[in-house]
Amino acid sequence: MYPGCQNKPIRVPGQVLFPIDADERLSYRKDMMTIVDTHLHLTDPPFGDQIEEIRRRSREAGIETMVTPGYSVTACETIIAMKQQYPDLPVAYGIHPQFIPVMETEGASGTEARAGGEAGRIGELLTDWLARGRPIAVGEIGLDSRRGSSPMERQQQVFREQLAVAVAHDLPVVIHCVQSHPACLTILTEAAREASSAGRRLRGVIHRASCSREVAVAYAALGMYFSQGPDLFDVRRTRLRALAEWVPDDRLLLETDGPYSVNRKGEPAGPWDLPDVAVEWAGIRGCAVEHIFRVSRMNTRAVFGI
Ligand SMILES: [Zn+2]
Repeated sequence: MYPGCQNKPIRVPGQVLFPIDADERLSYRKDMMTIVDTHLHLTDPPFGDQIEEIRRRSREAGIETMVTPGYSVTACETIIAMKQQYPDLPVAYGIHPQFIPVMETEGASGTEARAGGEAGRIGELLTDWLARGRPIAVGEIGLDSRRGSSPMERQQQVFREQLAVAVAHDLPVVIHCVQSHPACLTILTEAAREASSAGRRLRGVIHRASCSREVAVAYAALGMYFSQGPDLFDVRRTRLRALAEWVPDDRLLLETDGPYSVNRKGEPAGPWDLPDVAVEWAGIRGCAVEHIFRVSRMNTRAVFGI
């Protein structure tokens, strides 16, 4: 499935599959834009206390909506509160691998401290958030091998537990994975097998995806999507850009991960930067930017149901 990726425009010298030239590729008609930011931390500073303004600015930039994933106990509780105020905003809940130590050691609030205990607690907490918070997904969850992260064994346990809850609730997952793709693939493969033996299906997104082609093909075979944002602007990210070039049309999603990424001006990125991301991605793939808008919008509906 998808090894050389036939499912996208292939550049053949002298043949233009999308009737565009270089200039047209980099410009677009605003009325052709249909964009969702599939990963934005709307409750975090500097966005959290100006949600109305962020939404207005996003609408003006042609962005339909944005998905806010959770990452810690505090973030998930804040997102539940936001969801009560803005019921139309799509949200997700989960514990990010880098926030496992926060739960386990700092215990800032009673809830954080309670979450750190024995195996099974994460699953209980997540189930509670899902029941209260009307999510479209579970996330962001995953593995992260960078320094300061909690032991990999613990991360894998927390990841597995959250995947099981997502499958049981028939929700897609938003995966954060840094320098741990082989282990992540193994865990997702097991989870997909368990899901299908229970008559269910694992599906989801590898966010800010940067892995080898080999792993990406295996992720795609499991039903995973690939989202990219302002990382695409950095020409030094050769692996990430090569993967972005390969991603099949039916697995491509747009995101900013704002405010935790940087736009072309060096500012924290927001949904209004997505047209720039789409232009960059179109340039990498050699297709029209409207094509990126169109396929990413369809894929957002396919994976998240929005
Ligand atoms: Zn994020």
